[in-house]
Amino acid sequence: MPKHKGYVEKLMTEIRSLCEKRKAVILAHNYESPEVQDVADYVGDSLELARSALKTDAEVIVFAGVSFMAEVAAILNEDKIVLHPVKEAGCPLADFMNPQIIKRFKDKYPGSPLVAYINSYVETKFHADYIVTSASAVKLISKLDADTILFGPDKNLALYVAKKTGKNIIAVPKNGHCYVHEYLISRYHIEKVKDENPTAKLLVHPEVLPENQEVADYVGSTSQMLAAIERLGGRKFLLGTEEGLAYRAKRLHPDMEIMPVNPRAICIDMKKINLLNIKRSLETLKPQVHIEKEVREKVRSILEESLRLIR
Ligand code: SF4
Repeated sequence: MPKHKGYVEKLMTEIRSLCEKRKAVILAHNYESPEVQDVADYVGDSLELARSALKTDAEVIVFAGVSFMAEVAAILNEDKIVLHPVKEAGCPLADFMNPQIIKRFKDKYPGSPLVAYINSYVETKFHADYIVTSASAVKLISKLDADTILFGPDKNLALYVAKKTGKNIIAVPKNGHCYVHEYLISRYHIEKVKDENPTAKLLVHPEVLPENQEVADYVGSTSQMLAAIERLGGRKFLLGTEEGLAYRAKRLHPDMEIMPVNPRAICIDMKKINLLNIKRSLETLKPQVHIEKEVREKVRSILEESLRLIR
């Protein structure tokens, strides 16, 4: 038993009683650390958490994830306090797309809709026509009445959507990528873990490079991977995404052998959230996420229309 177990349990009890006092819920992304997932009310991917944020009747939402996710929770819940325990926990992929880059592409492809991946900041989403997650991108884009679509900021997800929909998907910008999925789920990591586990099924996220998607048994978002584990059959699975998902998958399927392709595929920003800063945030009700009214209203209507299209 780890020496710090008692300390972690004490912090978790304190957090749960603060949640009661503040009428708060904790939403945690699948990539959060085990103790953050364990203390949360809901654990899921961006789409599931956006939906949980819409449904909750709590007065306070603590968002254990990166800042674009906390922004979405704040946009969908203007009447609630949304706390993001570490406001510097951002997403290096989201940094690839900004309003200036969008303008350049819109000028070059007039009339083509811009679909923003949810992994983008609110200033960027403000200029989008639709907003998708990796779980909803193919479904939504298939429904659009346009053959050329601007999509960003992840170039690998753009290629995946192009393959699945047969549409001309222009990556905005050309080189947007997530360092965790592009470099830490590499062919080297995949071949090594496959050699060690030849009977295991390989599931990867569409943010990995296309050539690594090709060798997988399944490609999908984190929630889709969790669902696919039951469908694919077998007892051993390798998850080609941030290592945190393996903990969630093992909790859901304790009878199966599930491991990350690379246990060092760690998103530093996701892991900036911990029990101590969640507790401090609940005590002080800071830092809160505030979005300017005009931006909030426009992005909310884009999000709602996008969610309606994939229902
Ligand atoms: S795993 Fe990649 S896409 Fe997800 S938050 Fe971290 S840097 Fe961004």
